[in-house]
Formats: sequence, C-alpha cells, structure tokens
Amino acid sequence: MNKKTIENIELKNKRVIVRVDFNVPLDENQNITDDTRIVESLPTINKIIADGGKAILMSHLGRPKGKVNLKYSLKPAAARLSELINKEVKFAPDCIGDETKKIVNSLQSGDVLLLENLRFYDNEEKNDPEFAKKLSELGDVYVNDAFGSAHRAHASTEGITKYISIAVAGLLMEKELNYLGQAVTNPKRPYCAILGGAKISGKIDVINNLFGKVDTLIIGGGMAFTFYKAKGYEIGSSLLEEEKVELAKEILKKAETSKIKFILPVDVVVANEFKNESPSQVVAVDKMPADKMGLDIGPETIKLFSSEIMKSNTIVWNGPMGVFEFDNFEKGTFAIAEALVDATSKGAITVVGGGDSAAAIAKAGLEKKVSHVSTGGGASLEFLEGKILPGVAALNNK
Ligand code: AMP
Repeated sequence: MNKKTIENIELKNKRVIVRVDFNVPLDENQNITDDTRIVESLPTINKIIADGGKAILMSHLGRPKGKVNLKYSLKPAAARLSELINKEVKFAPDCIGDETKKIVNSLQSGDVLLLENLRFYDNEEKNDPEFAKKLSELGDVYVNDAFGSAHRAHASTEGITKYISIAVAGLLMEKELNYLGQAVTNPKRPYCAILGGAKISGKIDVINNLFGKVDTLIIGGGMAFTFYKAKGYEIGSSLLEEEKVELAKEILKKAETSKIKFILPVDVVVANEFKNESPSQVVAVDKMPADKMGLDIGPETIKLFSSEIMKSNTIVWNGPMGVFEFDNFEKGTFAIAEALVDATSKGAITVVGGGDSAAAIAKAGLEKKVSHVSTGGGASLEFLEGKILPGVAALNNK
C-alpha cells in the first residue's frame, strides 16, 4: 500500500483525531445489536493508547439528516467501546465547539474520547470547509480508519485532511486496502469474482471493470434473472429490471467475445411466492414455470460455482446467491460461503464484500474462515469498480 499508516507516525502525547465507523445497528431501546464495527476498530484504538497518544474518535451513525436527534446518539457506542477496552471512554455531547475543545484539551496521554454524531450537522456530508477546519482543530494528527465511509468525500473523511498535514490510514483501513488492493491490482491467478444480490443496476460498473481483470466472472442471485430475460427465457415472477435487459444483452455479447469465463446459474429453486414457507422445486433455468419465482440457485449450479471457486487462487464475492434471509432459500448462498472457506484452507485469498454478503457469511457462521470480510459494502464495490476512494486518496503517501 502506498499510503502512510499509523505505524509510520509519532503518537506519544499527540491528540490523534480518528475517523472511525461506529455506524452500528441499534434496537428501539438503543441497544447495539451488532458491535462488529466497534470491534474492528480496536487495533487502531489500542495502538494509540499503548503508544501514549490521546484518542479522539469521531463517526456518523444513521441518517439524522443534519439535525440533533438523540435517537442517533453515539453514546451507546462509547459505553460498548469502554467495555471492550476495559477503560473509561469519555463522551463529548457535540463534535465541534468550545465545550468539545475544552474536553479535548483536558485529555491525558492514553485517554479515549468519542465525539457525538458528525451528521448532527449537515456540513459533514456537504464537506463544508469551515466545519472540516473545526474538526481539524481537535487533533494534531489525523487517522482514517473508516473504510466503510472512505468512498464519500465528507468533512471527516476528506475535508479535514486539508487542515492537518499528517493524515494517515488506521490499521483496519490498511487491512481493507491490502486485501482489496491485492485482489484488484495484483491478484494471484486464476482470479474469480462472484456477484449476486438483487440488482444489476448497482453493479454494472463493477461488472464492466471486472471484465478487464478477472479470469472468471460468476453471476448469481436475483440479478441473474435479468440476464435470462435477455436470453429470451421465461422467468415467471422472478426479480427483473426491465430497463436493464438491453444492458444485460450487451454484457452477454461482450462475454461471448471476451477471454474470460462468464458463468450464470444452470438451475434455480423456484417458489410460488416470496415467502419462506412457500413450496419450492428445482428447475433448469430454461424451464422456469411462468407462475413461479426463482429464490435461490439450484444444486447443479452450486456444484458448478464451487468447482470454479476451487480452481481459483483469488476469489472476491459480493452479493448473495438467493434470498438468504429466508432459511429455506439460504442453501445456495451458504454453499458459496463454504466453497470460499475450502478455497481459503487450500491457500486461496478470499475476500467477501461488505453489506449483504457480510451478513450472509455471518449467518452461516463462517466469517472467520475466509481471508477477509470487508466492513464497507459501498466502499468495497467502488473499489472493485476501480475507483479511487476520496477518503483514501486524501491520505499521505509513503
Ligand atoms: P444487493 O443489495 O443488490 O446486494 O441485494 C441483496 C439482496 O438480494 C438480499 O436481501 C437478497 O435477499 C436479495 N436476493 C438475492 N437473490 C434474490 C432472488 N433470487 N430474488 C429476490 N431477491 C434476491
């Protein structure tokens, strides 16, 4: 990686302002239902404490739309972090202002402070320079450890770097960039990408970019049905993006002349309706009944996809193969997760994009058995599109 990291700078007695991603899900009583994002940021926070820096953490949570709304307060995250690091975590009820400055200036070496939700100000998402400058005044050095927000040029991810000369990556950010970076720029071949999920629309740029990079491109999930429609197959009431059929035709044409293997499912599990309990059956993709919908890939497809995965040395997976949220239609997605685990144990580099694929592999209980599960859904997709993430570009080069 060509960016400086927290390992390359002096932290002792420094006010280290860190953009973390504590955008954790909360229930109606503001209990954190999944603390993965906080846990993932611990290596960076613990390093700052161990090196005698003062950790000033900032994050967004939810979409408070530029207004103070305590439903989106980060206070529960401070309490959870305190339990995880077994140490007091101070909390500032505002992310800027004189009071916050006072709290920051009272910090001792090794202290940890979490600021209130950045998005209580709409200036954050607008990347307002004045707001970015105010944030910058709270730190001597800046660390970005929020990979999940790095694809957005916001005040806390990009604007702030204009006012602090030392701006480096945290350890989580470094890990994300190393895994995704290797997959994108220097993959061990054969390189296989598996895309799934509901829609082609969010993944067109990824498909196009991967055409030039991968050896094998596998498409599953709901987005496969738009390709079948393009091939003229009956798809019943399966998910369809009518306005993307032409595009799917173009992609299929490109696949015919390209050197890469472009693979679609060969069989599907169809159901009468979009319900877990709906009776289901397996049919070949060109034999779908008009009154049914496809909710998962079938057993022959699982065999086909798994064998391609096992032949590969780098595998990137983004998007479930079916409606994995329904226990009766999770099989295809879980089988792909299992294949990734097998490939990992044989030495392949396996990377799972964030978002739904991360949720799926966690539901399968296999998240620790692949090389890397990204914490950023949108950010990992943009990375695979070949885009430069503004929050990364803004950091100091080595
Ligand atoms: P995305 O956000 O585009 O990655 O889509 C993820 C969603 O796609 C998940 O909630 C899955 O339930 C859904 N999905 C995957 N396969 C299908 C399918 N065959 N029919 C309907 N939804 C699907």
